[in-house]
Amino acid sequence: MSDRDAQQGGGTAAAGVIYLVATPLGNLEDITLRALRILGEVSLIACEDTRRTGRLLQHFQISKPLVSCHDHNEARRATELAERAAGGESIALVSDAGTPLIADPGFRVVRAAIDRGVRVVPVPGPSAAVAALSVSGLPSHDFAFKGFLPAKSARRRAAIRSLEQSDSSTVFYEAPHRILAAVTDTCELLGGSRRIAIARELTKLHEEVLRGPAACVLEALSDRPSQKGEFVLVIGPRDDSGTAGSRNSRAAPPPPPAA
Ligand code: SAM
Repeated sequence: MSDRDAQQGGGTAAAGVIYLVATPLGNLEDITLRALRILGEVSLIACEDTRRTGRLLQHFQISKPLVSCHDHNEARRATELAERAAGGESIALVSDAGTPLIADPGFRVVRAAIDRGVRVVPVPGPSAAVAALSVSGLPSHDFAFKGFLPAKSARRRAAIRSLEQSDSSTVFYEAPHRILAAVTDTCELLGGSRRIAIARELTKLHEEVLRGPAACVLEALSDRPSQKGEFVLVIGPRDDSGTAGSRNSRAAPPPPPAA
């Protein structure tokens, strides 16, 4: 196995590397073959919750030393992990679900590694934002991911109001106890005809996508006694009439030069 193969991800986990390994959002079949190989080969796995990652690894019969790396200790852990990698260890960083760093810890680790000249390698896989956008039926060629909507009403409303003139789709994560308020605000601030999508429990048993004008989605949600599960809210651009049904993954070719 050449160094090049290892660099391309075809060989054993390389020494002195931090791998950012995506894990399933719910359906364990979504783990990639490469993720399994890397998790099986590294010397250490840094994870948000050692019990949760321990269960995932146990399912795949992988046994590795685990260290926690979460919102409350990442600043300290970042230096430690980067220095261990600089000293030759191969380390995988995972979050509880999906892609590390995407509304999850890991940024400080990556920055500390880069600062020390440590190689950082992505092992891509599921992420709720991309999965939700892909099934939303909203334009996907130009989108923004904004992480969690602010919890406080005034800031949430300001975030939503800022999309009034947006030409992009915008993806938010939202907690179940605030999703109704977020959709209510969307209706009120952007109008009931603004197209949105709500993706709930993606890849899980109760997976569901609600799509349509915000007023209709709000009506469907309001009919329920409570909102359960994990949610992604996608708010479409102010006008997607020109892109509906098109292959909107490619920009239109430039016009021919004037004669
Ligand atoms: N790093 C993860 C990723 O790549 O998607 C996101 C972690 S963030 C802490 C957790 C949030 O992601 C949830 O509150 C929810 O908004 C969204 N999410 C995670 N799993 C989901 C799922 N199966 N269905 C819908 N949304 C999900």
